[in-house]
Amino acid sequence: MLIGAVEAGGTKFVCGIGNEKGEILDRVSFPTEQPEKTLANVIAYFRDKKVEAIGVGSFGPINIDSASPLYGYVTTTPKPGWGNYPFLPELRKVFDVPMGWDTDVNAAALGEATWGAAAGLDSCLYYTIGTGVGVGVYAEGQLVHGLVHPEGGHVLTRRHPEDAYEGFCPYHGDCLEGMAAGPALEGRWKVKGSELAPDHPAWAMEAFYIGQAVSSAILLLSPKRVILGGGVMHQEHLFPLIREEVRKNLNGYVSAEAVLDGIDAYIVPPGLGDNAGLSGALALGLRALGTL
Ligand code: ADP
Ligand code: ZN
Repeated sequence: MLIGAVEAGGTKFVCGIGNEKGEILDRVSFPTEQPEKTLANVIAYFRDKKVEAIGVGSFGPINIDSASPLYGYVTTTPKPGWGNYPFLPELRKVFDVPMGWDTDVNAAALGEATWGAAAGLDSCLYYTIGTGVGVGVYAEGQLVHGLVHPEGGHVLTRRHPEDAYEGFCPYHGDCLEGMAAGPALEGRWKVKGSELAPDHPAWAMEAFYIGQAVSSAILLLSPKRVILGGGVMHQEHLFPLIREEVRKNLNGYVSAEAVLDGIDAYIVPPGLGDNAGLSGALALGLRALGTL
C-alpha cells in the first residue's frame, strides 16, 4: 500500500511516499515559493506514484473544520501569496483519493504517537522550536482541533529577570515564540543559536522559557509524554535544563513518577528525528484511508 505524505513548511516542502508500516520509501524536497508554483511541484511529484491516499501536515494557520466551506485552506498567514489559499481543494482537483489534512505539528504528534517516542500512548504533546514555535496536541487517541487548532507557541510567558530582549512576535512581542524560537536567540544574542557555546547563558534563559510553557501544558492537558523537536532542540544539552525547569515549576504538586524520577523518559526528543513531520503526514494519510 502506497501513501503520499506532504510536510508543508513555511520554508520548504517535503513530499514522500510511505507504507502502512511507517516506512518512507522515497522523498523529495523543494523550497516554499508562491502557492501555485509550489502546488505544481507537489502535483508533479505524486502524478505517477499511484498513491491510495495523501496526508498533508501544513504550516498555518489553516482551516481544519471539515464542516466549513473553507476546509483545507491556509488562512491568515502573512506569508506572501498564501493567505486564504485553497491548498487541499487544489490537490483534490487532481487526485481522487482520501486526503488527511492537519497542522504540521499535529501531524508530527500523530507520527510520534504511531511510530515514535509516544508509540503505544494515547496522548502526547509535540513542540517544534524552530523558526517559530508550534504545538501539536494528541489526546485520548485523537488530534485536538477545538475552535481552530491549538496555537501553543503563542502562550504568554513570565519574563526572565535578566532578559531585556523585547521579543519578535509581530502579534504579541514576548510570547513563547517571540522569546524562544530560533530568531529570538539570534535577536537577543546577535549570533545564530547554532553558534552559541553549550555553556553560554543563552541556554539557561532558553530553558527558562520553554520550561514554563511545558509545565503549563502539563498542568492543562496532562499529556503522557512531551516531545521537543525543531532546529533549536538539536542542542541536546537543553533537555536536562528544561527538565529541571519543569520540575522546579511543578514543585512536586504533580506527583506522577513521569515528572519526578522518570522525567528523562518523559520530556524527550522526537523518536522519528527529523522525519517526525513527514511520517506524521503519512499517518494522516493512513487515517484518511481508515487503516490507522
Ligand atoms: P523550520 O522551523 O523553519 O521548519 P527548523 O526547525 O530547522 O526549521 O528551525 C530553524 C531555526 O532553528 C532557525 O532559526 C535556526 O537558527 C535554528 N536552529 C537550527 N539549528 C540549530 C541549532 N543546531 N542550534 C540552535 N538553533 C538552531
Ligand atoms: Zn506570539
